[in-house]
Amino acid sequence: MNTLVVATGNAGKLKEIRNLLEGEAILQSFSDYPLIPEIVEDSETFEANAIKKAVTMSRATGMISLGDDSGLQVDALGGAPGVYSARFAGENATDQDNNTKLLGLLESVPQEKRTARFRCVMAIATPDGTVQTAEGECEGFILTEPRGTGGFGYDPLFYHPESEATFGQLELHQKNLISHRGRALQAAAPLINAIYS
Ligand code: IMP
Repeated sequence: MNTLVVATGNAGKLKEIRNLLEGEAILQSFSDYPLIPEIVEDSETFEANAIKKAVTMSRATGMISLGDDSGLQVDALGGAPGVYSARFAGENATDQDNNTKLLGLLESVPQEKRTARFRCVMAIATPDGTVQTAEGECEGFILTEPRGTGGFGYDPLFYHPESEATFGQLELHQKNLISHRGRALQAAAPLINAIYS
């Protein structure tokens, strides 16, 4: 089976990508390459961050690599936290810290104006330097309190109307069918298959 190195240290993301690519490829990640330093996400767009992660990982390992950059865009906050989603409440913020900050900022915002979307860009880089990207989005609302304990990050606050549930209430395979990451990977799959074939 083919091997794909995923440039992430986020256990929640890796679990989802592993579930999505089950049987398609053997996945490796940062934990398989402990000497590779952390990749600083210092770009202003999901696309540039995803490309940086994939290209850095591919150069360092000599393997085909996947970089994923994703985040939450809340309309009432002008698209924030966006590329700063992981560190919204500070450099070492926990998911709980970020969720608390988000709820605080949206305290006076009525339900109909709490529209938001998750976005994900996946970049696939090969050791010869080529890189391709694919994107996925998922629209929803930010609730006033968490529901469900599944997933990671902002999942318990992100209500997906078509599922009548938050991402925190969905099973992994249900979330993967409709999520930004699932959709990005569906778009990326033909690109990955073409590289391996
Ligand atoms: P990064 O892509 O490593 O910069 O991190 C993205 C951040 O966005 C995560 O740490 C979460 O806070 C948030 N995020 C991205 N995707 C999801 C998701 O599927 N559920 C919940 N939060 C997410």
